[in-house]
Amino acid sequence: MSIEKITNPLKTRHWLGNMEAHYVYTLGVAGERFFKELKENGRIMGAKCPRCGIVYVPPRMYCEKCFAKLEEWVDVGRKGVIHTFTIATLDIDGKKLEKPEIYALIKFEGAHGGIIHKIGETDTVFIGMKVEAVLKPFEERKASINDIAYFRPVK
Ligand SMILES: [Zn+2]
Repeated sequence: MSIEKITNPLKTRHWLGNMEAHYVYTLGVAGERFFKELKENGRIMGAKCPRCGIVYVPPRMYCEKCFAKLEEWVDVGRKGVIHTFTIATLDIDGKKLEKPEIYALIKFEGAHGGIIHKIGETDTVFIGMKVEAVLKPFEERKASINDIAYFRPVK
């Protein structure tokens, strides 16, 4: 057996594919509460650090700057701003989409982090665009990020 340093993973035996789509991540305590709020109250919540005041979206248990425990939750509202985006022309299996789909990282005012989601009701997109979450009807929500149907431009 030889041991050598691998600098290019594509030179090893590998799969190119979309395996990530099939991973299941556990939500953790903060994640569970985040999705429960979204499902039951239609609220997008952040967790606020009691020491340095940073608001994290999605919420987490501890502040990454000062390690304080985050117990105060704040409603960051449904409106945010597109921080970055991509336009998908292929679906997850590599098939051409009938209509390109826009995905964006949406940031909320005064909050650290953001949510990656689909942008709907528009053919144009730009960094800095103001968007708002469109929630699924209550009966269709399942305590997942897809309880938000998509974000659309704020009119
Ligand atoms: Zn902190």
